[in-house]
Amino acid sequence: MEKITDELTGVKTVAIAGHIRPDGDCIGSCMGMYLYLKENYPDIETDIYLEQPREGFSYISHLEDIKTACTEEKIYDLFITLDASTSDRIGVAQELFRKAKRRICIDHHVSNPGFADKDIICPQIGSASEVLYHLLEEEKITKPIAEAIYTGMAHDTGVFRYSCTTPDTMRIAAKLMEKGIDFSSIIDQSFCEKSYVQNQILGRCLMESIQVLHGKCIVGCLRRKDLEFYGVEPKDLDGIVEQLRVTRGAEVAVFLYELKTQEFKVSLRSKGSVDVNRVAVYFSGGGHVRAAGCTMQGSVYDVINNLTLQIEKQLKEKCSD
Ligand code: AMP
Ligand code: MN
Ligand code: MN
Repeated sequence: MEKITDELTGVKTVAIAGHIRPDGDCIGSCMGMYLYLKENYPDIETDIYLEQPREGFSYISHLEDIKTACTEEKIYDLFITLDASTSDRIGVAQELFRKAKRRICIDHHVSNPGFADKDIICPQIGSASEVLYHLLEEEKITKPIAEAIYTGMAHDTGVFRYSCTTPDTMRIAAKLMEKGIDFSSIIDQSFCEKSYVQNQILGRCLMESIQVLHGKCIVGCLRRKDLEFYGVEPKDLDGIVEQLRVTRGAEVAVFLYELKTQEFKVSLRSKGSVDVNRVAVYFSGGGHVRAAGCTMQGSVYDVINNLTLQIEKQLKEKCSD
């Protein structure tokens, strides 16, 4: 794979952005890229656009540099997106992306059709952070950069458990460990640790979850009033769908929460027999075979019915194979 350095000749300004409601991979890959440019190319003016990460990621260096709003009308020489599967998921910096002189998309979503001047999309790689690692020069990766990239890799592989974890993933993780990172505390802080309300809302969602399709599908749902009652934000809901997924017998886990009246953010996870990317794409979303998402309109009953119909279709296809 070519290196990002090859793209920097004559470049004076760079913007970096991930996707809306950023997860660990998005935060890790964007911050990894940002810190790499900041530390190794101080003459390049680099800006990073992202939603503010939750408290658990606070060990990542220079989070305070993140721009959460887009006030400038700047035309960047280069715009790099990481972990974003479509250009409309870029968020606040979408307009800046459109206007930039050159655009590079670094991603790993199977649903990504490519939307930049240069697309580096590797669906066989478990995280955008791992794709990024291949584009960097090993000797230019300092400890803070390694911390960010390791975070992203750990999150999208479920701490190196999911099937997207490869021998290559482990070799790269080892290289990052050799940079002296505190990998144990990174995982504890960003992945395992929950605030009191995060645990409460997780418990609430699990308690009220329902099994459908003879237990092959489990559905958890949080309404606006629940989120308001506990005072939680979408970023506090990380990990709920993974907990639903580990339910014995469940092939698919569905987690939805209400964004606004009659609109739900849907997260889908699969143990492998159902391609949830296909389900998400059907509803104009996307993702990976075992982890995907979309936004759906309608009553909670409509949304669940429509989703389970698509899941059931695939389960039936499997049975008739
Ligand atoms: P989530 O359920 O939001 O954690 O997302 C699971 C995976 O699907 C992640 O890799 C997301 O980037 C991707 N994804 C979620 N929502 C969408 C969407 N609306 N369009 C495309 N990809 C999505
Ligand atoms: Mn992501
Ligand atoms: Mn990712």
